[in-house]
Amino acid sequence: MEIPPPDKEPLLSFLQDIIRIPSPSTKERGVVERVAEEMRRVGFAEVFIDEVGNVVGRIGSGGGKRLLYDAHTDTVGIGNPAAWSRDPYGAEIEGGVLYGRGTADNKGALAAMIYGAKSLIDTDLDLAGDLYVVGTVQEEDCEGYAVGLHCRKLKPHAVLLGEPTNLQIARGQRGRIMLIVTTHGRSCHASTPELGVNAIYAMNKVVARVEALNSNLAQHPFLGPGSIAVTRIEGEGASLNVVPDTCRAYLDRRLTWGEDEELALTQLREIIHEEGVEAQVETLVYESRSHTGYPCRQKKYFPAWLLEEEHPLVQMGAWTVKRTLGYEPQVIGWRFSTDGVATKGELGIPTIGFGPGEESHCHTTEDQVKVEDLVKAARVYAQLALEFLGI
Ligand SMILES: [Zn+2]
Repeated sequence: MEIPPPDKEPLLSFLQDIIRIPSPSTKERGVVERVAEEMRRVGFAEVFIDEVGNVVGRIGSGGGKRLLYDAHTDTVGIGNPAAWSRDPYGAEIEGGVLYGRGTADNKGALAAMIYGAKSLIDTDLDLAGDLYVVGTVQEEDCEGYAVGLHCRKLKPHAVLLGEPTNLQIARGQRGRIMLIVTTHGRSCHASTPELGVNAIYAMNKVVARVEALNSNLAQHPFLGPGSIAVTRIEGEGASLNVVPDTCRAYLDRRLTWGEDEELALTQLREIIHEEGVEAQVETLVYESRSHTGYPCRQKKYFPAWLLEEEHPLVQMGAWTVKRTLGYEPQVIGWRFSTDGVATKGELGIPTIGFGPGEESHCHTTEDQVKVEDLVKAARVYAQLALEFLGI
């Protein structure tokens, strides 16, 4: 059956409310509380904030299959306010487009999910399973961490991510790992450099090999190639007149299908060995406290994930878009990283993406979403939950 579309006005004014509440990672409390209030107001059966601070709403029977919709409540900062042509927290609507930080990434999807669920609530259908709408935290700083904590407990049968796809279906992304290489040397006075071992010169050899490695990494027809880039170098010595005994280089390594942490580390260890420098390589660690005070700690390793095009969830997503919105969606891979690194990459839960907004607007001063696309997304969210869970 067809679920009636949600009313546009309350969806929009709720979204404007949550855009007007700034919510950088670990400081999502205000938005999370506002989202919980809205979930209660529209009639979710259960609403709570979990230990790490995700806001969780449930509709359905309290048994049967569990479908999880994930959109993150945190946003990146605004950078230089003068670079914005509109107030980044103003949530202005102009020409059918809503503007503001977090609109596309990812509050628009969260509002659409809640109002998609409301459409289902308003039909009085008895779902045979449960739909969980989860507003996650700290996605921008450590994607997958907070949703992973929740999914390990809930064990959903499938996950839909609301990250922007411009109303197409996403089924995977490259993974990533943040690495640090440290070279060691021996300090001496810089006026007699031949008496020491310069850790920066040692790093120079490693960096040249890393640059060459970038064009020799694995390829995948759907996700594209792996990549590696040095993003920062620091030398450390007692003063500018001392040959440094330590140098650190930070590396952003993107992992295509078939590449993992072990491979990335091994490639660098081989370079270090072949260049004969004294060095080690490690994976960086993410540490923070969530807005509830939960101590977060995890390696900055985010596996690639991919769901085959023939998978029933991809097919159901595409079919639901066609039936609800009248077009055959493209099936795409995301360029950026998402909570799918945990839901599918780490936990193996079938995961797809579908969201309003465009990837190219994320993290920019043009963060925006089309008003009509919010309603379209809400319709698909309602219909897909009905198809997946049944009545
Ligand atoms: Zn996002």
